[in-house]
Amino acid sequence: MSAEGTATESFAEFVAGLPLVDHHCHGVRTGTTTDADFELLATESDWPAPPGTSVFDNPFGIAVRALCAPLLDLPRHCTAEDYLRRRGELGDQEVSARLLAASGTEKYLLDTGFRASTIMTPPEMAQLTGAATQEIVRLEALAESIAPDCTAAGFSSAFEDALERALEHAVGVKSIIAYRYGLDFDPAPPTNAEVTAAAGRWLAGIEAGGLVRLTDLVLLRHLLWRAVGFGKPIQLHVGFGDADIVLHRCDPSHLTEFAHATRETGVQLMLLHCYPYIREAGILAQLFPHVWMDTSCAVSHTGPSSETLVRQSLESAPMHKVLYASDAFGLPELYLCGAQLWRRAVARILGEWVAEGFAGETDARRYAELLGRGNAIRAYGLE
Ligand SMILES: [Zn+2]
Repeated sequence: MSAEGTATESFAEFVAGLPLVDHHCHGVRTGTTTDADFELLATESDWPAPPGTSVFDNPFGIAVRALCAPLLDLPRHCTAEDYLRRRGELGDQEVSARLLAASGTEKYLLDTGFRASTIMTPPEMAQLTGAATQEIVRLEALAESIAPDCTAAGFSSAFEDALERALEHAVGVKSIIAYRYGLDFDPAPPTNAEVTAAAGRWLAGIEAGGLVRLTDLVLLRHLLWRAVGFGKPIQLHVGFGDADIVLHRCDPSHLTEFAHATRETGVQLMLLHCYPYIREAGILAQLFPHVWMDTSCAVSHTGPSSETLVRQSLESAPMHKVLYASDAFGLPELYLCGAQLWRRAVARILGEWVAEGFAGETDARRYAELLGRGNAIRAYGLE
């Protein structure tokens, strides 16, 4: 498979064979996946489907039975019971190897900061897939990992040191300020005095038996601004993608002032998921030279309807600012469906532009290559 393709293959074949860089995903689950595990990993909900129902009737579950079943030697649209039975027969390792190979991913950028003990590490993912892997550091997880050894006055420099060490190998960072607060935060960096006071409150709470989970807005803003200082791309969770968000506060237009404030710093802002605010993200990606976007996560979870999302992402954002990602976590089905649904959408949308004479096929191939891998390579300085 090469990104250039061959002169004789159709545009759809070119997109189907394009090697992808998955710029936002997590590791495959380790250990044995039970049916109950599958049901929970196959949804962004934190709770199981109501009694008598199944995630296999969600848009993603429908896509799994259409796209993944044949790769496990089952007929398309097999029942949930047959799918889970076959999955168990083959075992997690074999299912993962088959589905990840069929996704056609050449490189995974892995967020290692979420439930890290339950998923494969970047070297384990590389071994499983034969693809290259690189790491994205989650800012809040890094801060939480150093908290027990910090004093209030020492927190800021300890975090700076930890981030510098992490960025010796990681290619970017991720902020989940959207989950922990919302995107409607004060876009200015907090003062040193504010950070020390906030760290004091947080650390005292931990010492008194409180949660390590960092939700203090001053500290969340501080982590973000420290990351800006290092200049590597910052992934920001936007919109759909977790049960603990307040959705309307995860609209990326709340980030407009932060985008202004960071425009000349050299940092790149990577807006993740973006659903249902894909158009808002696209507008920011057009306006600001350092704002990028993807439709990850939402593509898998909208299954048969996912083409609409990819189409919206290509309405106003430049072709050089939209990226492919699966946002897969745990289940190999999420990597496969993310990739196949994205290929289906891009082949249809750009194929239409070619058919109607809006774009030449040479440009359409160049755009597909940018969206699928080239933009990620440029944004993160890969290869
Ligand atoms: Zn995500």
